[in-house]
Amino acid sequence: MNRDNHAPIFNKCFDFTEAAEVRASGLYPFFKPISRSEGSRVYIDGREMLMLGSNNYLGLANDQRLKEAAEMATQRYGTSCSGSRFMNGTLDLHEELEHRLAKFVGKDAALCFTTGYQTNLGALSAILGRGEHVIVDKYDHASIMDGIFLADGMKKQVTFHRYKHNNLADLEQVLQRIPRDEPKLIVIDGVFSMEGDIAPLPEIRKIADAYGAGIYLDEAHALGVVGATGRGTCEHHGGNPDLCDLLMCTFSKSFGSIGGFVAGDEGVIDFIKHFARPLIFSASMPPANIAAAMKALEIIESEPEIVQQLQKNAQYMIEGFSSLGFNVGTSETPIVPLLIGNNEKTFLLWKQAFERGVYVNPVITPAVPPQRALIRTSCMAIHSQDELDQAMEIMGQEARKLGII
Ligand code: PMP
Repeated sequence: MNRDNHAPIFNKCFDFTEAAEVRASGLYPFFKPISRSEGSRVYIDGREMLMLGSNNYLGLANDQRLKEAAEMATQRYGTSCSGSRFMNGTLDLHEELEHRLAKFVGKDAALCFTTGYQTNLGALSAILGRGEHVIVDKYDHASIMDGIFLADGMKKQVTFHRYKHNNLADLEQVLQRIPRDEPKLIVIDGVFSMEGDIAPLPEIRKIADAYGAGIYLDEAHALGVVGATGRGTCEHHGGNPDLCDLLMCTFSKSFGSIGGFVAGDEGVIDFIKHFARPLIFSASMPPANIAAAMKALEIIESEPEIVQQLQKNAQYMIEGFSSLGFNVGTSETPIVPLLIGNNEKTFLLWKQAFERGVYVNPVITPAVPPQRALIRTSCMAIHSQDELDQAMEIMGQEARKLGII
C-alpha cells in the first residue's frame, strides 16, 4: 500500500514518518501489549515486569471482589446495555451507583457516563452556554479542553481563558478582565495528572466567590487517592464539599473499572442529563463496569486503610526519588514525575528501565510543554516497600549513567 493507490485525503498518513523512525531506533515506548496482569506485576513480551506506571492506584483492578462483582452483573444483565441512557440503556445498577457516589462526595445527585473522557466532554459542553466564559489552569487535562472545544463546536461561542498553573494571582488577573455580570466557570484538576500536585482549592473558592464564578473540579486522580478517607481534594483541604460546585471523576483509576461521573446540585445534574451529547448519543456503561466501580466504592468506604497505605507509599517514593537526586517537582501524591526536560534522555531512561523490568511512562511534548519531558511514575497501595526500593534503585542507576542525576 502506498500513496499512489489512495485518495489524496490520505497523503498525510503516508507522509507521517516520525513514529516509524522512533520504532526503527528501538526507542518506541507506546502501545506495548500486556499479556497478563497480577497485582503489581505485568507480563510483556513474555517477561514479568514491575508495574510502576499505572493509574490502578488502589490495586482494585485485579481485586478478586471486583472480578466477581463484574462476573455476576454480566450473568444478570449481559455484556452490553446496547443503547443510550435515554433509551434502553439505563439499568437500576446505574441509578444505584449514582446515588451512592453522590453521597460519597457530599453532593445531591450524580450522573454516570461511559468514560471519564466523555464525562468531561458531556458535562462541560452542556453547562457552558452562549456568551459565557471558561477559565482553565494551563495544566488541565486534555479531556477538559475537548469538552470546551465541543461546546464551541456546538456554536456556543464560549470565551476561553487560561491562567498559569496553580497561580492564584494570575487567576485573579484573568477574572478581573471579564465583565462582572457575565457567567463564568473555573475548571481545574484537583490532582494534576502529570505533576502530581494538588490545586489550592480553598483559595480558588474564595477568588471564585469574589468574582461570581462557579468551580468544576476534575477528581480523576484524587478520589481514592487524597483526603484521609479518599474523598479527594475537598477532603484534603478540610472536608467541605462546597469547595466545588460540580465534581467529576473517572472509574479507570482508583475505582478499577472504566466509566465516569459528574456530581452536583440536583437541578444542574438534571440539566446535564438532557443536554450532554456524549450521554445522549453513546451507549451507556456496561453492567460489568458498573458493578466493579460499585464494589470499589464499597471497599474505599469500608477500608480507608488502603487509601492510607497508598499515601504512605506515595510519600516513600517522593522521598526516595528526591534523595537519589531526581527532580520530582511539586508532587504530593502517588504520581511522581521525574523531570528530565530532554525528549531523547527521557526515552533512553524509559528504555533502560524497561530492559531491567520496570514499567514507567515517558511523557514528551505535546502531552507536556516543550523542554518539560518527564518519566511519569505512579505507585499503588499494593506495592511492597521492597518493590519500590528495587524500582528506585534501578531508575537511579540508569539515570546516573545518562547524567540525569
Ligand atoms: N481527567 C483526567 C484528569 C484524566 O487524567 C483522565 C484520564 N487520564 C480523564 C479525565 C479521562 O478519564 P478516562 O481515561 O477514564 O476516560
